[in-house]
Amino acid sequence: MFKKKLFFGITAMLLSSLLIWAQPNMQPKKITEKFFKDYEDLELITPAFKKKKGYTNYEELISFLESYQEKYSDIFFISYLGNSQKGYNIPMVTIKKADNLNAIKVWLQGGLHGNESASTEGVLYLVAQILDKRQDLLENLEIKVVPMANIDGYLKLNRYAANGLDLNRDQTKLIAPESILLKNAFSQFSPQVAVDFHEYTPFRRDFASFGRVGISSFYDVMFLYTGNLNVPQNLRNYTKDVFVKNAGLTLDNYNFSHHPYVSTTKINGEIHFNKGSINSRSSATSFALTNTISTLVEVRGVRIGRSSFKRRTFVTYLVGLSYLETANAKPQEIRRQITQANETEKQIFVTSDRTVYSDSLQVIDLDQNELVKIGVTFRDALKATPQLIRKKPFAYIIKEGKQIIEKLKVLGIEVSSLAASEIIDVEAYLIRDYYRVPKKYEKASLQRVSVNLVNKKITFEKGTSIIYTSQKNANLLYEVLEPEAPNSFVSWGILKTGLNEELPIYRIQNNLNLNHEK
Ligand SMILES: [Zn+2]
Repeated sequence: MFKKKLFFGITAMLLSSLLIWAQPNMQPKKITEKFFKDYEDLELITPAFKKKKGYTNYEELISFLESYQEKYSDIFFISYLGNSQKGYNIPMVTIKKADNLNAIKVWLQGGLHGNESASTEGVLYLVAQILDKRQDLLENLEIKVVPMANIDGYLKLNRYAANGLDLNRDQTKLIAPESILLKNAFSQFSPQVAVDFHEYTPFRRDFASFGRVGISSFYDVMFLYTGNLNVPQNLRNYTKDVFVKNAGLTLDNYNFSHHPYVSTTKINGEIHFNKGSINSRSSATSFALTNTISTLVEVRGVRIGRSSFKRRTFVTYLVGLSYLETANAKPQEIRRQITQANETEKQIFVTSDRTVYSDSLQVIDLDQNELVKIGVTFRDALKATPQLIRKKPFAYIIKEGKQIIEKLKVLGIEVSSLAASEIIDVEAYLIRDYYRVPKKYEKASLQRVSVNLVNKKITFEKGTSIIYTSQKNANLLYEVLEPEAPNSFVSWGILKTGLNEELPIYRIQNNLNLNHEK
């Protein structure tokens, strides 16, 4: 008898430790109780709250959406973007009034990282609240929502897509099938406002080095918006000073804490805190480069299991709601800001650097369970300084490379072709320095180059691709075509090259009247 009990006891212990290992909850109860009390006023209407364990699965997601479609068939529509790698058709919902043709278009997405569960749950809660209680928001808005962008990852509580790719490092190279489906839908919709909901890890490995036993992040929400210099300044300011600010005030009303996004990186053994975003490989900047008001919202959540899950869901909803309220209240001003951004004439910032400085950051000291300020080194993308600047060309010509042209079209770039063969004065890129990064990153063989621009007269055949820079998504074009740009097709190894080689991409510097067809 005793042996049997012991056997069961040990088995139970093993099982529970296995469960903990599979999904460790790193958050001590005392932290939850003191700083992140759950939000009990949340209506338990979304799928994950209808069960004790686990998160919304695919069947529950679809039947949740379908139940609303039945109820609100005049303003709520489900469409499917295509299959994930594991064969799940990715749903997107549209919420709009049929007669509203001049609406501000808002894109919301959750679950791009599969282990950030509150992003999907919060977005579903938002959809339900709009339909049931806030249809006034449809006065000036058309809303598209992708609630579970990375379904394969989400169902396994895994950050990555089924082939191991991080979909939020795949916004310019577009290797994962999900990235292409999502980007196509985004480009076709061409929203004026976009929010990508995520959760962040409050107990980072680097945080063990601070305090006596380590620290934890304190903020319910961190806002990640771009400092990329190719995004017109007025749009960057408007995002931060109006949308982020309003969302912050909404959070203040509920005593939820917030801060601009910071994460850590180790440089020569020293921990630095990255602030903001600069990199077009991720959504916040990639969206902003299409002259969209764009924010990535990070809710404090990863690796803390289901603790404060109602709070995390509610906070996600609150931020989304605030963005919708701001957009609905200011349609003319949003259009004016985006027109101004589209008309901004400037140089191309091929590379830029973050500004490095020391400052303090508020964190939770794990030993004392108190808020403390620690001194840290920031690398601030919101204070970026230009490094390599190049004149904006009239157009690019791409000689071959069907693959590149396909990716450009997915990115929402208009590609024309020469209607007859032409002799054109161009600048060619000649590779002056070449370095192939030995270790693969995100399944890509990275290349680092510098180039000489060489003036040439070249005969281009009829049908050669020509891409004018006088188009809405041109800022994204520079990020992928200028070879030294950190997320260019050359940098990602999509367009392979080598020392002293000439790229099949050319710049037309002066305005030309070319015969072209679309
Ligand atoms: Zn994420």
